[in-house]
Amino acid sequence: MMPKTFMPTVTTQEELEELQSEGLRWTVNHAYHGSSFYRKKMGEAGISPDTIGSLGDLDKLPFTTADDLKEGYPFPLLSVPEDKIVRVHASSGTTGKRKVICYTQKDIDDWANMFARCYEMAGLNRKDRVQIGVGYGLWTAGAGFQLGCERFGAMAIPVGPGNRDMHCEAMADLSSTVFCCTASMGLLMAEEIHRRNLVDRISIRKIIFGAERHSTTMRRKIEKNFGIEESFDIPGLTELYGPGTGIECQRHEGIHYWADYYILEIIDPETLKPVHIGEIGEMVVTTLRKEAVPLIRYRTRDLTHIIPQSCSCGSVLPMHGPLLGRTDDMFIIRGVNIYPGQIDNLLSQEAEVGSEYQVTLKRASGQDYMTVRVERRETTDYSKDKETISRLEDNIKRHLLVRGKVELADYGTLPRTERKSKRVFDKR
Ligand code: ZN
Repeated sequence: MMPKTFMPTVTTQEELEELQSEGLRWTVNHAYHGSSFYRKKMGEAGISPDTIGSLGDLDKLPFTTADDLKEGYPFPLLSVPEDKIVRVHASSGTTGKRKVICYTQKDIDDWANMFARCYEMAGLNRKDRVQIGVGYGLWTAGAGFQLGCERFGAMAIPVGPGNRDMHCEAMADLSSTVFCCTASMGLLMAEEIHRRNLVDRISIRKIIFGAERHSTTMRRKIEKNFGIEESFDIPGLTELYGPGTGIECQRHEGIHYWADYYILEIIDPETLKPVHIGEIGEMVVTTLRKEAVPLIRYRTRDLTHIIPQSCSCGSVLPMHGPLLGRTDDMFIIRGVNIYPGQIDNLLSQEAEVGSEYQVTLKRASGQDYMTVRVERRETTDYSKDKETISRLEDNIKRHLLVRGKVELADYGTLPRTERKSKRVFDKR
C-alpha cells in the first residue's frame, strides 16, 4: 500500500487560487453569520458576504488585530456555538490577559494534518521516533508536535521542556531519531550530550526547531554538536492553530507555508499597503477553513518576506523567508524600515563576529546615523578587523539599503541577559 500523504490535493497555481477563493468565501460567510463581532466589523466597512467573490476582493476586508482578541475575552472571535468547542489553547500575552483560542474537532483534525505534513516535508518516515522537548499544557507547542506525529504515524516520545536527564535517557535508551525543541534547548542539549559522552549512543538524525528566532550560526553549531544531517525551522502562531503552519523542505530554500489552509499577505506595517513581492513586511493571515475562530486579515506582527521563486522540490506550496522578529522592534532610518532580525541575519553570515550586537541611532546636522557595534568571536584576533568592518559595512549598504558604521568590540564585552536583550538604542 502506498503511504498516506498529507500534501495538498491541488497541484497547480490555478487550482490553488481557486481553492483559496472558495475558502475565502466560506470563511467570510461563516464569520459573518457566526460571530456578532465580525458581523459588526464587516457592517462598519460596508461589507456583506456577497461583496467577497474571489481573492481579488480580499483587500476590501478590514484587518483584525491582537486588540480584537481582547474584546471577546475569554472566547474572542468565536464563530460557532460554545458546545462545538472541544479544546482551548492560550498564548502568553506580553501584556494583560492571555489570548485564549478555541478549537472545534475539525480544527484539531486540520491542525493534525497540517503538522503531519510538516513531518512528511522534513523527510520523516513511520519508523521515526520523535522526541518532543517543547512545552505541554495550555501552550500549543507540545500538543501540536505530538498530534502531528501521531497523525503522521511515527512514534511520539513526549518528554517536554527542560529535564535534561530524562532527555538524555530517552535519546540513548529509546533510540530517538528526531528531536523537536526550541533553539535554546537544542544548544543546551548539544552541550549536555558532549559533556556526558553520549554522542556515539544517540541516533538523532534530524532536529526540528519550534518558533523562536535564532541565527544561522546557532543552528549550525547545534547541528555540528549533535552530528546530525539537517535541521528544520517550523513557524507557528497560537491564533493560527499553533506551530506547524509551514516548514522548510529538504532543499532548505525557504519555509513552505500551507496556502491551502490560509492566505498570506505581507503589508507595510506603517502604511498597511501590500509591499512589493520579496520585500519584508508584516505577515497578515486569512484562514480558509477554520471554524471556531476564523481569522480575517489578522495582523500577526511577525515580519518576513515572500520568496518569489517556487522551490526546486516542485511543490505547489509557496515559501516565505525566516521570521525576522516583530513589527514592534522595527525602526526607521532615512526613510527605510529596518528590523533587528535583518541585522541578525547579516551578522550571522560573517565568520569573524559573534551573535551579540547593539545598534545606536543618532542625529547630527539634520541627518540620521546608524552605528552597529558587534563582538568579535572568541577566537578572532585584531589583524582581521579592517577587512571585517569593510565587508560588514558593504553588506549593510547592499542588503539594508542604508549606510551604517560598524565597530568591533571584544568578545564578552556587550551586556548579556537571560531575557530578551535590548539591541536598539535610538538617541535621535
Ligand atoms: Zn521545497
